Amino acid sequence: MQKDQKEKILIVDDSEMNRSILVDMLCDDYDLMEAEDGVEAVSILSKHAVELSLVLLDIVMPKMNGFGVLDAMNQNRWIEDVPVIIISAENSSDQVERAYELGATDFIARPFDALIVQRRVVNTLLLYAKQKRLISMVEEQVYEKERQSDLMIDILSHIMEFRNGESGLHILHVRNLTDMLLSRLMAKTDKYGLTMADISLISTASALHDIGKMAIDEKILNKPSRLTKEEFEIMKTHSAIGADMLAKLPVHQQERLVKVAYEICRWHHERYDGKGYPDGLKGDDIPISAQVVALADVYDALTSERVYKPPFSHEEAVRMIVNGECGAFNPFLLECMEENVDRLRTARDEGIVEEVRQRKLRSISEETLRGEGGASRRTLQLLERERMRNSFFASLTETIQFEYTDSPSMITLSARGAKKLGLDEIIMDPRHNEKIFEVLDRNVWNEVGRRLRASTPENPEVRFDCALRYDGMTRWHRIVTRALWSEDTEPKFEGALGIVMDIHDTHMKLQELEQKAARDPLTGLINRASARERMELRMSDSSGGHFALAEIDIDDFKVINDVYGHMFGDKVLQQLARRMKNSVRSTDICCRAGGEEFFIFLEYNTDIEKTIDRIFHNLCFTCDRHAVSVSMGVALGETTGLSYESLYYAADAALYAAKRGGKHQYRFYNPSLHNLLDAVPEKKAGREKEDKQ
Ligand code: GH3
Ligand code: MG
Ligand code: MG
Repeated sequence: MQKDQKEKILIVDDSEMNRSILVDMLCDDYDLMEAEDGVEAVSILSKHAVELSLVLLDIVMPKMNGFGVLDAMNQNRWIEDVPVIIISAENSSDQVERAYELGATDFIARPFDALIVQRRVVNTLLLYAKQKRLISMVEEQVYEKERQSDLMIDILSHIMEFRNGESGLHILHVRNLTDMLLSRLMAKTDKYGLTMADISLISTASALHDIGKMAIDEKILNKPSRLTKEEFEIMKTHSAIGADMLAKLPVHQQERLVKVAYEICRWHHERYDGKGYPDGLKGDDIPISAQVVALADVYDALTSERVYKPPFSHEEAVRMIVNGECGAFNPFLLECMEENVDRLRTARDEGIVEEVRQRKLRSISEETLRGEGGASRRTLQLLERERMRNSFFASLTETIQFEYTDSPSMITLSARGAKKLGLDEIIMDPRHNEKIFEVLDRNVWNEVGRRLRASTPENPEVRFDCALRYDGMTRWHRIVTRALWSEDTEPKFEGALGIVMDIHDTHMKLQELEQKAARDPLTGLINRASARERMELRMSDSSGGHFALAEIDIDDFKVINDVYGHMFGDKVLQQLARRMKNSVRSTDICCRAGGEEFFIFLEYNTDIEKTIDRIFHNLCFTCDRHAVSVSMGVALGETTGLSYESLYYAADAALYAAKRGGKHQYRFYNPSLHNLLDAVPEKKAGREKEDKQ
């Protein structure tokens, strides 16, 4: 950062006065941005989180309070980079605790002292700057270390392979396979207490597994025919010799790399059943490092060409290993291999792709930092807690979770989800994976993909109901997914996160209700009681969508009846009903509440204002050259929380306001309309009557 460039601070407070007090205190030293409620704060953060050095946050605010802002900061992981100081008069101990729980770094009670604010702001900024430097330093070190050891290994590999008459890439292959198998094993069990750093260490050390061969006569090493019994006995000494070489190293004896390499050299020809050499170790007496390298070694030997044999195919090699034709292995490791048959092949040939390396780099830095217990412990704890929280909730719910990345095209399913659907946890190139399309219709895949790509960073959510087939059954599910857009000025679609939940019972119940719903014979729409049943079912939906209730009333319908006759009035009602149906999706609910009153209940993701405007204009039309208009009151809500009564009341109040405002218009409910209806005796009486029913 340049010296003359000031650090940026976001001040979030609904009170103009509070904001300006803070601005006066800080404007000389910092660049300030202001937000007057939580929603505005989140919107600013979503654009400027990278530039911001600090947020000063009030708790009690309209629209979204301070906890909501902290929640959003956690969800978007801004909290890791932008510290938050809470400034609030609300200082009960559980409020303070909750704020810390959500990642706030400091708490200042109002009324505050200017000096305190200034000092705490400076402290927080210094602390975070130090932490950021620390992280990038560790990353740099790890990166440089990795680069150097990669180089050494390449050189060493080349020398050894040259002498051993191996295919040229054996050591690299073994290293990549070891890495893949260990990552898999770590995901599968914590029996071996593996960390990312261990995996990196073991993979690196695996390059040394055959160094003992340097002491074996070249004639034996490169003999094109079968070895005699004596020759084989000599060959077998390479594992003990290699270990010995390492044990006698004059320096570096205490290095973990050397210790792990020793294990690998000495025991990579042991067998899980105790029949290997040199020590006849059995089961997990053999270090896991040596077990994994042994398996990788055998697999690569099988699939490579040697002077004495042609290469076996990938499938053949896996089959032979699993059948126990090439030794005895830890059943866990065999599972890791079988579960990842596709990746095995690519892991051998392509090695660790850059992306995996980057991920590892990050984890290693985190592990290193965690060990040092430096300034970032809190961030790491939070990260860890977030991971725990996710996996905890995932394990409790029956929902299937997935992550899709666009490039490389890959789906990662939660362990439970994969098991439930009978699919792999990692599916590469899913479009060409036939197994997926046995579960899910290809049209659904295409449609969800199309909608995700058509979404925007502001409105990334897509919902889709569809039938899935697994376990010999077809059941209805809801896919709720959120597109991941890059942060570039022209955002790129990068993938999606999502959950799939079983809504079969609700879906069936809706269909049942649909079938037995009482319908109005004139318009064919369902009546109020049936609509209410269905709305309540939809509102109890745990997936938490947005919905709108629009109450509609024809303007001056009495006059229409009086002037043109009752038959014409009926025709208007029928046309209006048809127009309602055509304005919304088939899953939305259209109802004739009675007389010339109607309502529509609809679910939406984005732009409800536009949708309501469109519906309203569709419902004002000409019938036999006579203009018909309606008034409409609209209430919005979430599918969890609000009751039918309160929603209906709100829509009613908004409709009343539209009528009173001159008809032929729509109004959205807002809290200022709250007591409007109570002032209307007939409305109040009517509602009480309905409440009793
Ligand atoms: P406003 O603009 O304030 O809503 O006035 P309005 O005339 O539309 O409302 P009001 O409630 O005074 O009149 C509603 C009329 O709707 C009275 C009733 O005769 C008529 N009506 C109710 N049901 C039917 C029906 O099924 N067919 C016909 N043709 N008319 C109906
Ligand atoms: Mg009317
Ligand atoms: Mg009326």
